[in-house]
Amino acid sequence: MKALVFHGPGQTAWQDVPDPGIKDAADAVVRVDAVTICGTDLHIIKGDVPEVTPGRVLGHEAVGTVVETGGDVRSVRPGDRVLISCITSCGRCRFCREGHYGQCRGGGGWVLGHTIDGTQAEYVNVPFADLSVHPLPSAVDSYDAVLLADIFPTSYEVGVLNGKVQPGDTVVVVGAGPIGLAAIATAQLYSPGRIIAVDRAESRLAAARALGADATASADEEPDQLVEDLTDGLGADVVMEAVGVPEAFEMCTRMVRPGGHVANIGVHGKPATLHLEDLWMKDVTLTTGLVDTYSTPMLLKMMAAGRLPAASLVTHRFELGQMEEAYEVFSRAAETGALKVVLGGPQHNAVTVQTPGK
Ligand SMILES: [Zn+2]
Ligand SMILES: [Zn+2]
Repeated sequence: MKALVFHGPGQTAWQDVPDPGIKDAADAVVRVDAVTICGTDLHIIKGDVPEVTPGRVLGHEAVGTVVETGGDVRSVRPGDRVLISCITSCGRCRFCREGHYGQCRGGGGWVLGHTIDGTQAEYVNVPFADLSVHPLPSAVDSYDAVLLADIFPTSYEVGVLNGKVQPGDTVVVVGAGPIGLAAIATAQLYSPGRIIAVDRAESRLAAARALGADATASADEEPDQLVEDLTDGLGADVVMEAVGVPEAFEMCTRMVRPGGHVANIGVHGKPATLHLEDLWMKDVTLTTGLVDTYSTPMLLKMMAAGRLPAASLVTHRFELGQMEEAYEVFSRAAETGALKVVLGGPQHNAVTVQTPGK
C-alpha cells in the first residue's frame, strides 16, 4: 500500500510500504476513507517531536471502514464505518480507568503517527480497537467526522474545559488555525460574553469572525492593548494558546486577568519564558494538556444533530494519492488560506479540489 513516511526533519515521501496486519487480538485494520493533516504533523516534520523516528507513517486523524478485526474485538466488525481517534486507550491502566486516555501507560495514548504507524496511508492498524474507534452514525459525513479525531476534542477539552470558560467571560484565543477556530466554536457552548481572536493571517481572522469571534487583532497590531481596552484594563478571564511558539504563550500570560486561566493547547518545540516576576501574585491558573478524547461521544452526538460547524473548517479536499500536494498547501497556510485539508480514498466520491481561502 501507499503511505506518507517520515524520513527525518524536513523529509517525507508518499511511498510503498507493507500492508498492516493484525498483530494483537485487540487490533483492527481500517481502510482509510478520509484523513487530514494536523499542525502537529508539521511540528514533527520540523523536528519538534523527536520520539518520531525515520520510517514512521505519519497521521493520527481519520475515518475509515473496518476490514479485519482481531479475535478479542467485540464492538466493531468488518464493514463498519468508524472514526479513528487520535488517542488510543488500553482501558486497563490507572490513567485509562480515570478517563485520562491521553496519558495511557498500557500502550495507548497518542501512539498513531507518533510511536506506531499512523493514518496517512491506505490502511492502518488500530490497537485496542474496542476503545479507540467510534462507530459512526449514518447521518454523519466522513469528511466532517474526521474533524472529531483530534481538533474538536482537543480544543474543547484542553482549551475550553481546562480554561474553565464561564457565561459572560471574555475569552481570548491566540492562534486562529483549525484548533483555535474549533476552540472559538466550542467556547460558545458556555455563552462567553466576548471572544477575541488573535492571528497573523487576515484570512484566519475572517474565519474566526464567521465562527463567532466578536473582535479580532492581527498579532502585529498590539493585541495586548485591544484586550486591555475591552476589559477596562483588567485582562481576559480565559486565554487559550493555540499556536505553539514562545511569543504566543508569553502573550497569553500577559493578557490574563488576576484569577484568570491560561490554557495552553499548542504543541511547543522550544522553551518559553514563564514570567513569574509578573504572575506570582496574580492567582493565575495555567494548564497544559494532551487531549484525552473523553468528549468525543458527546461531540459526535452534537455533530449528528448539526450543532458543530465542522464543514466550515475544511478549505481543501484532495485524493489520498495527492498527499504531498496536500502537505504543500497545508504548510503554506498563510498564502493558500488552508485551514483543514481533507484527503479521501478512491472509494470516496468527494474528491474535487476546492478554491482556497474561502
Ligand atoms: Zn492532530
Ligand atoms: Zn491505558
